[in-house]
Amino acid sequence: MECCTNSCCTSCCESSFAKAFSQVCPVCKQEGIPVKNFTVRHIVLEEYLPQVGTKDYFLCTNPECDVGYYQGENLFYKQQLRVPIWLKKDANPKYVCYCSRVTEEDIIDAVLKKGAKTLGDACKITGAMTECKCEINNPTGKCCTDLVKEAFDKAMKIKEGKM
Ligand SMILES: [Zn+2]
Repeated sequence: MECCTNSCCTSCCESSFAKAFSQVCPVCKQEGIPVKNFTVRHIVLEEYLPQVGTKDYFLCTNPECDVGYYQGENLFYKQQLRVPIWLKKDANPKYVCYCSRVTEEDIIDAVLKKGAKTLGDACKITGAMTECKCEINNPTGKCCTDLVKEAFDKAMKIKEGKM
């Protein structure tokens, strides 16, 4: 990825999430994705921190479900988190890069109104992927590269009149 060359980012992009280690959401019964404890600590509102404990969590990836993180008896709804989870249907704003607080709209704007022709341009204009602390800033604990790229592809489609 041309604009994602920081060594810290490479490491978080490559960190593996074991598929075998999965568990279903207690509310919607869909399978979530594992998220590290320190990511959860960084995302939940301060008042709920004492309830987080020391174990790793799962993130409910169902867009319709209000659950954010869960693990055993512990459950944090999306309202108990500092930032909207981008994969929930009503996420507002919908961040694609949490480190720099860049939204999908910002990327689309960079392409349609500010002349960005490549993903690298879009990152430069918006500041996306410059800080790279995805492991603690992104609710999924994963690098934002894919999300930023997705937003850029969407923007290009809009520009070409395909959307
Ligand atoms: Zn759920």
